[in-house]
Amino acid sequence: MLLTFRSIDYCNSVKNIEQSLSDLHQRIVSAAGRYDRDPDHIKLIAVSKRQPEQAIRTARAAGQIDFGENYLQEAVAKIETLADPDLCWHFIGPLQSNKTRPVAEHFDWVHSVDRDRVARRLNEQRPPGQPPLNVCIQVNISSEASKSGINLSDLQSLADNVADLPHLRLRGLMALPAPSQDFDAQRAAFRQLRLALEALNRSGHELDTLSMGTSTDLDAAIAEGATLVRIGTALFGPRPD
Ligand SMILES: *Cc1c(COP(=O)(O)O)cnc(C)c1O
Repeated sequence: MLLTFRSIDYCNSVKNIEQSLSDLHQRIVSAAGRYDRDPDHIKLIAVSKRQPEQAIRTARAAGQIDFGENYLQEAVAKIETLADPDLCWHFIGPLQSNKTRPVAEHFDWVHSVDRDRVARRLNEQRPPGQPPLNVCIQVNISSEASKSGINLSDLQSLADNVADLPHLRLRGLMALPAPSQDFDAQRAAFRQLRLALEALNRSGHELDTLSMGTSTDLDAAIAEGATLVRIGTALFGPRPD
């Protein structure tokens, strides 16, 4: 009896992830159409933190390649168990400078660099023979709410320093603004990140990435130029505790 129920649950969750993935692609295409964006320039990162490996396998089977993780131990265990060279792994969680090595060794991207010391250690610890680690600098665009991210006033000098590190490739900026239900407020926050990226590019950088937008503010992020959107609950459902 129990077995039957389990397999029904399992089939449902496979269907749900496939369906949600297809709904999300539709949502991205439709937002891109509304805001005059090329949908091919908007990539979905499936945020699989606290989700079981089976959920990642299901999304993978439905064509999803990019996955985002926040918790290092959990992430490294999944990366090693799945051992799938085609997957692209993004570290998106807070990063302390004494925890950089597993990120340098196991990930393709890190979105949460907000200090020189973290950048320098990632650069030193990137294993020889691996391509440069793709980096986004996390910016704190709604100061009170979040402890992560550099302030806008300190961004230029961090970006200049990161760009000089040979084993890192500075790609752009990331933000996780304070949650808001108001579309215009969501847009205003993301606009600050876009303007910061444009200012860096005017100063000589060649950044191509705005990592912004989650399940609840995806459309506003696309309106303001997101190139990577990081979606968890709208794809996998609520996270298990
Ligand atoms: C958890 C998380 C997400 C995904 O949020 P959802 O609301 O589940 O879509 C995106 N970005 C970061 C940095 C996160 O920690």
